[in-house]
Amino acid sequence: MKPEVIKELNEIFGEDRCKTNPSDVYVYGFDAGIHRSMPDAVVRPMNVQEVQKLVLLANKHKVPIIPRGAGTALCGHSVPIDGGIVVDMQGMNKIKEIKVTDLYCVVEPGVVCDHLNAALKPYKFFIPGPASSEAATLGGMMACNASGAKAAKYGATRDYVLGCEAVLPTGEIVHLGGRCLKNASGYQLDRLLVGSEGTLGVVTEIILKVAPLPAKKAAVVPYFDTLRQAGEVVAKIIAEPILPSQLEIMSQTCIQAVNKATGMCLQECAAILLIELDGHPAAVIDEVKVVRRICEELGALDIDYTEDESRIAELWKGRKQMIPSLSSLKEEYATVMLADDMAVPMSKVPDALEAFQEISDRYDIIIPSYGHAADGNLHTKVLMDPTNPDHWKQAEKAVTEVFEAVLRLGGTITGEHGVGITKAPYLFIERSEAIGALKAIKRALDPNNIMNPHKIQEWEEGFVTHLRYPVEAS
Ligand SMILES: Cc1cc2nc3c(=O)[nH]c(=O)nc-3n(C[C@H](O)[C@H](O)[C@H](O)COP(=O)(O)OP(=O)(O)OC[C@H]3O[C@@H](n4cnc5c(N)ncnc54)[C@H](O)[C@@H]3O)c2cc1C
Repeated sequence: MKPEVIKELNEIFGEDRCKTNPSDVYVYGFDAGIHRSMPDAVVRPMNVQEVQKLVLLANKHKVPIIPRGAGTALCGHSVPIDGGIVVDMQGMNKIKEIKVTDLYCVVEPGVVCDHLNAALKPYKFFIPGPASSEAATLGGMMACNASGAKAAKYGATRDYVLGCEAVLPTGEIVHLGGRCLKNASGYQLDRLLVGSEGTLGVVTEIILKVAPLPAKKAAVVPYFDTLRQAGEVVAKIIAEPILPSQLEIMSQTCIQAVNKATGMCLQECAAILLIELDGHPAAVIDEVKVVRRICEELGALDIDYTEDESRIAELWKGRKQMIPSLSSLKEEYATVMLADDMAVPMSKVPDALEAFQEISDRYDIIIPSYGHAADGNLHTKVLMDPTNPDHWKQAEKAVTEVFEAVLRLGGTITGEHGVGITKAPYLFIERSEAIGALKAIKRALDPNNIMNPHKIQEWEEGFVTHLRYPVEAS
């Protein structure tokens, strides 16, 4: 990067909040995914005016800027593929307003999801977050349209964004949406920024709807002989109709991994469901009875049940340990973030799980399945030796087969994690007729292509690229 750009950055941010030293910027070269590419500089704005000055500077010098929250995204979303300036938004972390009588709060984008929920708890409100809620920022959640285990009942981040302030790629500060629960004033541009992965502007403030905390929770944990039985129970519960607040499915590989890594004693059968019901106490008790009956009728081997909040929290802690736990399954294998978050219509969950298992069985790499079964959002990871080029070749084939199976079942390549780089090749299959429109929107809003370039529809190569692993020569 030219010295005059660094000089101008220092004038805006001061030396404390503008880093160019390789050891300071190193961690900004990757997120929680598989890719790595180093930035030239990292800046930490504290207000919208600084963001605006940065965007104007980036346009003047035609350098890329890449917004970043906590860097927990899983597909290389904030990896600065052409270098440039990473914009660390964690400095803008104020909760500006909580107004539960109007069902909204206003936050800066660097606020961490769990911090917001801690502040909302005394008011008996919350917003649903991803499994990474301890670290993920609201800006990152909005930009990825993140969601989590509660999405079937409580929705995704897009359902909570009422409005936002953003600096557009050409430097204008705009206020989109607003504080009203309903708003039909023309194009919903705030919604366009949801899921835009930092490619259409920098979000500097978010107005979020809040949801009431439920009065009671209960958890039912049935154990099954086959994945298909577990999938059938999911379909039957939904059709009842009962909408669990969380409903996770774990295959045997995942159960073993969580037990090994956390010391939990889940029964090691073919599949278990973690079903959480919440709401008015009387309604919860009624729903538990129905759910237990369905599990028994469809042949559950055993059923655990608890109303104890700390036991329920422990169960979800085990589930949240899933990703790190999987790495302990086979000594020389690591969990690699590939094909990690497909969604299918709920009735297709058993077909999808069987397809993933069948694909996994044909390769040396392991593809364990788990997921948010109530909304059809299934997660596989690939367990492999990421230094082995042959494993990458197998992964490319297996991942393609997994996505093909999902699309055949009427699903999507990503339910909640977004596209970034890793899933881009498959977006071209899923959204083939819309790619032209997506590119036109990007060109119209960002004529100099400075905002997080080469992501989503702008990445036109394969995913085995810019790897963060030292892959041995084959
Ligand atoms: C262990 C683990 C579990 C996870 N579980 C889930 C899950 O259950 N559900 C789920 O949806 N995701 C999950 N994720 C993925 C990830 O945590 C979420 O996508 C999260 O929302 C990313 O937030 P972040 O602050 O880390 O964003 P980052 O990774 O820093 O950035 C993500 C994207 O947002 C953009 N961005 C960030 N801030 C702004 C801003 N202010 N303006 C414009 N663009 C911005 C970036 O440019 C980038 O494209 C998980 C990740 C891990 C590591």
